[in-house]
Order: sequence, then C-alpha cells, then structure tokens
Amino acid sequence: MEEVLSCPVCNSVNFEIHLKCHDHALTNELFTLKQCTQCSLVITSPRPVENDLSRYYNFSNYISHTGKTDSPFTSWLYKSARSIMLQRKYSIIRKVCSNGRILDVGCGTGEFLNTMQNRGWEVVGVEPSSAARTKAETLLKKQLFSAVDVLPEDSYDVITLWHVLEHIAEINEVIAKVRGLLKPKGLLFIAVPNYQAYDAQKYGNTWAGYDVPRHLWHFTKNSMIRFLENNQFKPLHIIPMKLDAYYVSLLSEKFLNPDKPVTNYLRALYSGALSNFKARKTSNYSSLIFLAQVKPE
Ligand SMILES: [Zn+2]
Repeated sequence: MEEVLSCPVCNSVNFEIHLKCHDHALTNELFTLKQCTQCSLVITSPRPVENDLSRYYNFSNYISHTGKTDSPFTSWLYKSARSIMLQRKYSIIRKVCSNGRILDVGCGTGEFLNTMQNRGWEVVGVEPSSAARTKAETLLKKQLFSAVDVLPEDSYDVITLWHVLEHIAEINEVIAKVRGLLKPKGLLFIAVPNYQAYDAQKYGNTWAGYDVPRHLWHFTKNSMIRFLENNQFKPLHIIPMKLDAYYVSLLSEKFLNPDKPVTNYLRALYSGALSNFKARKTSNYSSLIFLAQVKPE
C-alpha cells in the first residue's frame, strides 16, 4: 500500500478524512478516503501499489468488460441502459463535432467506438486489459492499442475518457499526453462519478460510485475544472449522465440488501429519480461529463 502525500490537482498537503469504505464489489477490504481541503478532490489513500492493483480487477463478471451479470433481468437492464447511453454519448458529441477521428481511452469491449464507427467516424481505441481489447478488436475489425504512448501527436478531433480517469494513478501525465494527441482546438470528454450528488450522500460509504480501490480519485465539479485548467484545457460544458443515478443506486442497494432484488429495483428507481430531481438545482448529478477544449499555446 502507498499513501498519496499531495493532491495531484492543487498540490496541497492538507487533507481530512472523508470516510472509510469497503470494496463491496470484490474483496470487502476497507479503504480510507481523504479529502483535499483546498480543491475538494477525494483520494483513496493509502492505495494498493500499481503491481497489486490488478487483483482488484479480477472479476469473473466485471460487467463493463464482459457484458455478463448473474441475473437475466439485470443483464437485459444493463444492455438496454448501455444502448441508451451509447446513443446519448453520440448525440452529445455530434452537437459539437459532426465527424472526424476519435480516440477512446479505456475503450473496454469497444461498444462506444462501434457506435461512432457505424456513424462514419474514424475510430481509435486504447484498452490496457488484453481480454477486453481482443473483443473490441473483433467488434471493430481493427487493431487497438494497450497504451496512449505509441499514438501520433496532433491527430485526434475528439478524445473520450468515459469513467476512466478515476482508475488512472498518474492523471497529470496521462492528461498531458492526451492533450498532445489532440489537434489544435481538439475536444476532450471526461466522465466521472460525482460524490457531491444526492445518491452519494444518501448511500454514504456504500455508494457504488466510490468503488474502492479501483477508483483512486473522486472528483467534484470544482476539482475537475481546476484539473482541466491546470493542464491547458478550457472547460466548456458540464453535462449530466442521468441514467447513472439509477444504475449506481441499484448497485448500492445490492450491497446493502443482497437478497432483496425486487425491493432493490424499486428503491433504486426512487433514489435515482430523487437524485436527478435535486440535481436540477445544484447540477450535482451522480455522474458528470466534462467537455473541454485544448487552449492555444
Ligand atoms: Zn487539491
């Protein structure tokens, strides 16, 4: 385990304990989350060292990589939600850029890139998990990459990181590389969970959006905007991911009541709807997409 000594967003060394939570999804180990008192970033610290992190991804059914779950209904629900979400991501991008070359960092099994490819985009994907990457390569009928290092600079109109940044240890290094890969005025979309959402406050240390220790960082609007500005991006918009409030609430309910599937769906529906309703005033949705543009040198 290693302690994170300074905040990667604002360099502050002043933290307070945010909460302690278990790895509900896999090992049940307990982790501490500490909050930067300057920029509000929450950090999983201490965290497993890099070589040890892979065992926390050792799911036989890690849903975003395999598309499989235990119950047929959950699987159907997940696939339906994913299909709505894919269409929504496409629509969000189309509003600001109608075509070109897109790079998805952490592309998983490639469904998002497949959606974009089918709509005429030239697609490139990076995925460190070789099992997921192989599936994505079959789906997209092209070779993908395991890391951003080998890609050519000044080459992409759009780069997306959908729920990926919170998994990356060296966020400043990666964002600097991503910036170099974008064309001048290129666009960046980053989606992350938002622990200031109502559902996060309701579920506390069982909120599935914490997903420790796989999530190393827990952003807020403030900390993400600061992070983007520090890395020569101009934040343009913050866009809600409303479906995530239901999905994250359902996972959280399952952690609380593993044996009550029907009640869990109803409670998740209520929590998700309430979270989205409250966020209409605060814009603290359960997950947020940050759209930013490369600032000129
Ligand atoms: Zn900070």
